[in-house]
Amino acid sequence: MSGVNEIRSAFLDYFAREGHEKVASSPLVPRNDPTLMFTNAGMVQFKNVFTGLEKRDYQRAVTSQKCVRAGGKHNDLDNVGYTARHHTFFEMLGNFSFGDYFKERAIELAWNLITREYAIPADRLLVTVYSEDEEAAVLWRKIAGLSDDRIIRIATSDNFWSMGETGPCGPCSEIFYDHGEGIPGGPPGSPDEDGDRFIEIWNLVFMQYEQLSASERVDLPRPSIDTGMGLERIAAVLQGVHDNYDIDLFRALIASVESAVGSRAEGDAVASHRVIADHIRATAFLIADGVLPSNEGRGYVLRRIMRRAMRHAKLLGAREPVLYKILPTLVAEMGRAYPELVRAEALISETLQLEEKRFLQTLDRGLSLLADATEGMNAGERLSGDTAFKLYDTYGFPLDLTQDALRPRGIAVDLDAFNTAMERQKAEARASWVGSGESSSENIWFPVRDRVGATEFLGYDTERAEGAV
Ligand code: ATP
Ligand code: MG
Ligand code: MG
Ligand code: MG
Repeated sequence: MSGVNEIRSAFLDYFAREGHEKVASSPLVPRNDPTLMFTNAGMVQFKNVFTGLEKRDYQRAVTSQKCVRAGGKHNDLDNVGYTARHHTFFEMLGNFSFGDYFKERAIELAWNLITREYAIPADRLLVTVYSEDEEAAVLWRKIAGLSDDRIIRIATSDNFWSMGETGPCGPCSEIFYDHGEGIPGGPPGSPDEDGDRFIEIWNLVFMQYEQLSASERVDLPRPSIDTGMGLERIAAVLQGVHDNYDIDLFRALIASVESAVGSRAEGDAVASHRVIADHIRATAFLIADGVLPSNEGRGYVLRRIMRRAMRHAKLLGAREPVLYKILPTLVAEMGRAYPELVRAEALISETLQLEEKRFLQTLDRGLSLLADATEGMNAGERLSGDTAFKLYDTYGFPLDLTQDALRPRGIAVDLDAFNTAMERQKAEARASWVGSGESSSENIWFPVRDRVGATEFLGYDTERAEGAV
């Protein structure tokens, strides 16, 4: 059984032997790309190479890319703690061909890696292809010897990738691992495909067309390859566990959460331990890449992640700042692969403590307000928008934190009323603002930032790099 660090190295070394340049992960804050909130796939740093705007002195590359999917179009925040396979921060392993090899070689390289190097039994694997990509189906049969029932044709955009309305695009093919009967979930393309039995481990994108306009698409003269495999997901397979949160790295982090908080990861507490372990990683890597908690934009996404983790720590019994105590374990586990973590450790630790101290002042009171407001409520009922707004405005509860707190009880928030309260407050603040003290400026800020949250956040991480890899 190999650990995450060895699995990452094995991937990079394998593709390096196959003539790929090892390229470092780019930062989580994309350079020169205001359309994207966070780097969410390996191809992000190569966008301009794929479109031909930029030239590199290599035609094949391999990376392990830091990714965050917690804002914008790709938002897995609400999956964390609920699925076996999603994180807010994760590493995407990828090999890329810039007009060099194409479909056949890409499939061969992927298949050889997983069945030979990683020695995954072929009978646990199945693949999807785009319904119109007969060529890919034929290649899978030829190269992998997969029977037709293991080559699933998908007609939706899940299996067709595009960079935007125009630009490179093409079909993709995803490799799934069957974790076995007994785990709920059906194969890709079936009605219960969102279960966790068949887990997507690798996505291969065949960029073979260029979309010139809504109606015109031409063949690319030199098609390209873009792939992405979740390191934590392949590690789960190789370590013989079903759940990403049971791999070596997460076991270490969760053990550290246990000792920091003084609560065992058992029974109902498991989800909170997982959320904290996940969110501490996202927090640390975002701060290391220059994001600091704030009330707008990227900083507000970070603050939301941090505060969600803090509420879960509180649930587990924490009474004082504890998250910073987990940091040394993270640095020990990942600092060699990502030295920026080591360099930023002091800053991350300090930021965690400050943010936690600050939020703890209102967290308790906010939680008791929430408890009072929902006393006797049943699943299917809704929390009033005014209460959600008060929690937000007075106690610093981001809306999604309140929603996260109520989700296990099946209670939703009255969003229309919440937005109305926000608008009203904003109008009042505008009318009465005379440049007085701190709290009134906070009152102005909060609505503004949430408007940004409601509008820009969704638009931010637009179609570009969508579909990801
Ligand atoms: P899923 O359907 O499971 O949400 P996806 O299709 O959104 O995955 P891609 O955009 O194809 O994922 O990303 C490429 C690979 O990155 C996936 O095959 C998976 O292994 C990994 N991956 C994607 N999202 C996450 C996540 N939130 N946490 C961990 N790994 C992820
Ligand atoms: Mg997804
Ligand atoms: Mg998918
Ligand atoms: Mg995919």
